[in-house]
Amino acid sequence: MLTALLDLLYPPACIACARVLSGPGSAFCESCDTALERLPPACCRTCAEPGTFPADTCPRCRAAPPPFTRAWAPFAHEGPIARAIHRFKYEDHPELAAPLGALLAGEARRFLTDATGPVVALPLHTHRFRQRQYDQAQLLAGALAKASGREAPAGWLERTRDTRRQVGLSEAERAANVATAFRAPPEVAGRSLVLLDDVFTTGATARAAASALLAAGAVRVDVLTLARAFTLT
Ligand SMILES: [Zn+2]
Ligand SMILES: [Zn+2]
Repeated sequence: MLTALLDLLYPPACIACARVLSGPGSAFCESCDTALERLPPACCRTCAEPGTFPADTCPRCRAAPPPFTRAWAPFAHEGPIARAIHRFKYEDHPELAAPLGALLAGEARRFLTDATGPVVALPLHTHRFRQRQYDQAQLLAGALAKASGREAPAGWLERTRDTRRQVGLSEAERAANVATAFRAPPEVAGRSLVLLDDVFTTGATARAAASALLAAGAVRVDVLTLARAFTLT
């Protein structure tokens, strides 16, 4: 009854282009759904960098094995999923957390059977959180946790300081920029965790965050994101 009323007031809409959908059950309209670009099956087995590599390991993971067990995303950071992420992050659409979380839980079902434990959000910078008025990372973590039957405790990963925006920095600069940017509380000790972010780019942030969780005693960290940028091609 309440759901029917809410659907009447806020009819289900495509999360990328906002076109009203004929019914619930899909996050995207038909044309956006067709335009979705899934990650190719040939990719690095550790970080999902697309491509064919010796021993299925990309040059970046070979040169410096990441602290996390595995990183994966269902989509390439292009087209409709990139638009949906942008609307969610920058255009004041916190209500997209639920459909994005449900979408990710469905797409990542296989990944999540190996990656057990609570969902930990990669936290925003505090000043950006204040600008944006809602903690989009924690909202998405909560939605993914709900859709996959697990928990998303808040505060299990904190930024120790604000880092510069990563856009436009070289890879070495990115790594140095985030190296000591995170801290995790004693609650993570002994736990396997799923670290959640929206987009995986070079992995510098995910590496730094996973290192902080492992340093605080977490036994395993898997990284899940909505989308993956192609960075080696
Ligand atoms: Zn659409
Ligand atoms: Zn890799």
